[in-house]
Amino acid sequence: MDPQIGDVLLTADEIAARVRQLGRTLARAYRGREPVLVAIMNGCVLFLADLVRRWPGPLDLEFISAASYDGTRPGRVRLALPAGFASRVAGRAVLVIDDIYDTGSTLATVCRQLRTLGPTEVRTLVMFRKRRRAPAARRPALARRRRARGGPDWVGFDIPDRFVVGYGLDYRGRYRNLPYLALLRQAP
Ligand code: 5GP
Ligand code: MG
Repeated sequence: MDPQIGDVLLTADEIAARVRQLGRTLARAYRGREPVLVAIMNGCVLFLADLVRRWPGPLDLEFISAASYDGTRPGRVRLALPAGFASRVAGRAVLVIDDIYDTGSTLATVCRQLRTLGPTEVRTLVMFRKRRRAPAARRPALARRRRARGGPDWVGFDIPDRFVVGYGLDYRGRYRNLPYLALLRQAP
């Protein structure tokens, strides 16, 4: 194993079991409809590929990218949408899928822009959500801000507020292909 990789937080088997459950839950939630899954690249590619194979039923896939101007500071997110994207989400039930939810600003930006394109609804799914390590006094404010940002509707796992890699998540482009979720020995 790579010496940079620290504790494994979630094994491949634990992840697979949860993805199976999510597939069943979402198939039920969207029964009788044909949603458009809008995946935020690149982080959610492993999760998406596993999820849709556990989700029987019709759906469409779209891919967008969201880049922070500054990876360390929340709130500044730039989106890149493919040609013709707007016409493929208008009048549709949209499910936005991201790898990890931290401050919520990526998902909030994506949802805000999507709503201008006239979907019938916009819901959100993330594989991992960080339990923020806010001081006790600020916790209610943080929880309120996350709620106001409107998401996520479904979560795979709540995880500690640490920098994680694997299962799609990278550090400087590496480790996305690890089948498990792990800490880096030296957090960036
Ligand atoms: P948010 O906008 O919710 O603060 O941050 C979400 C984005 O930040 C994710 O889509 C992901 O790209 C990045 N991110 C947040 N936490 C981590 C982490 O622990 N590891 C990695 N590799 N990326 C993270
Ligand atoms: Mg991301």
